[in-house]
Amino acid sequence: MLRPTVKWLIAGVTLLLFIGLLILPGKRGGRAKLELKPPLGVARLPAVRVSLTPESVTTATLQVDGPFRVSPMGSQQVLLRLERLPKTTVSLTANGFRIGTQVLPVPRIEIVPDGEGAAWVGDREYRGKIQLIRQSGGRVLIVNVVPLEDYIGGVVDSEMPTEFGTEARKAQAVVARSYALAQMQTARRGALFDLYATTRSQKYNGRRYRSSDGRLLAGDSYDSRQIAYETAGMVCTDQGHLFCTYYSAVCGGSTSLGSDFFSDAAPPHQSVPCQWCSESPLYQWQATVTNADLQSRIQKYWTAQETKFGTLKSVTIGPVPHAGGVAEVQMSDGKQTLTMPATAFRRAIGTSDLYSHHFQIERDGTNWVFKGAGHGHGVGLCQWGARGLARSGKNFLQILEIYYPGSQVVVLTDQ
Ligand SMILES: [Zn+2]
Repeated sequence: MLRPTVKWLIAGVTLLLFIGLLILPGKRGGRAKLELKPPLGVARLPAVRVSLTPESVTTATLQVDGPFRVSPMGSQQVLLRLERLPKTTVSLTANGFRIGTQVLPVPRIEIVPDGEGAAWVGDREYRGKIQLIRQSGGRVLIVNVVPLEDYIGGVVDSEMPTEFGTEARKAQAVVARSYALAQMQTARRGALFDLYATTRSQKYNGRRYRSSDGRLLAGDSYDSRQIAYETAGMVCTDQGHLFCTYYSAVCGGSTSLGSDFFSDAAPPHQSVPCQWCSESPLYQWQATVTNADLQSRIQKYWTAQETKFGTLKSVTIGPVPHAGGVAEVQMSDGKQTLTMPATAFRRAIGTSDLYSHHFQIERDGTNWVFKGAGHGHGVGLCQWGARGLARSGKNFLQILEIYYPGSQVVVLTDQ
């Protein structure tokens, strides 16, 4: 179940679209004439809960550079108040947590920095609050509860460099916000978070982070936060309903039909031609995998499926149903031909070799050569395509209209 405030806000979205709707012009040439004066009238949208680790962990390091309190999750009660916390290990006790020498016998706590403060978890610093939630098996789930527009500022810089252009990044902001709100709307009952901080949801580096070589890097920037602010409350809708806006890095010439990849893909996820991503290094690519490697990667998949498969003799792609790329791959060991869904095949081979579902396979001696186009599933907004469109003078509304045909961008308002 969504938290009551979230539920109220999200459940009200459709109603808001009718009574407080500002439908933005998308088809006009040049820059859209927008009165951007947020946050005046823009809905106060709920904070986002982002899981900071793919899975729960056994220990973590915390650091807070300014004053903060520690409270039971969702409570104002102060368990601990400090002016700062140097880098300190957090571990589990029998019924709570130990932060340095402090023992807190509470199963769910939150670190709440004062004002605009932030807290480090490992090598990353996050705006908002940090929740530590005990899990079974001596593990802890770490969640960042961050105001939506702060989160959007982080996602814009994490997903799309400044070099892609302001209009592309504005399109990214609207898409990231729509995606996040849609995920919050459909979060399962009792879920402890709404989104992952990786491309499993959308990439979010927080406020600052340390790179593997020890450099301190910005996770968000004045520019990305300005973009979040200027597009505050704007979301993509279909027939008056917010929808989950899927997007990918490079479509490779044509975006994928959403329903080929996602059961909940809204109608605007159509396959549309896109020549604007041609400057991407992964617009077209080639990968070579040895026969032995391919054999072992395929075997792992079939073994997990409890299916016997002998020595690989041939690999062919199945019929291509849409411009969205390969749907199935057929392989033979000389005695039988088995069919593997292209998504499973891509995972089995490795997404760092097979960048997308747009590919062909050729045999070259002891190797298999994959010739493909694009990076990612190719559904919805093409990030490199948005870059190309922004460079050709299109504004963010026009970009969104190209990648989500039939959709409308609206501003969620409080009235
Ligand atoms: Zn593209």
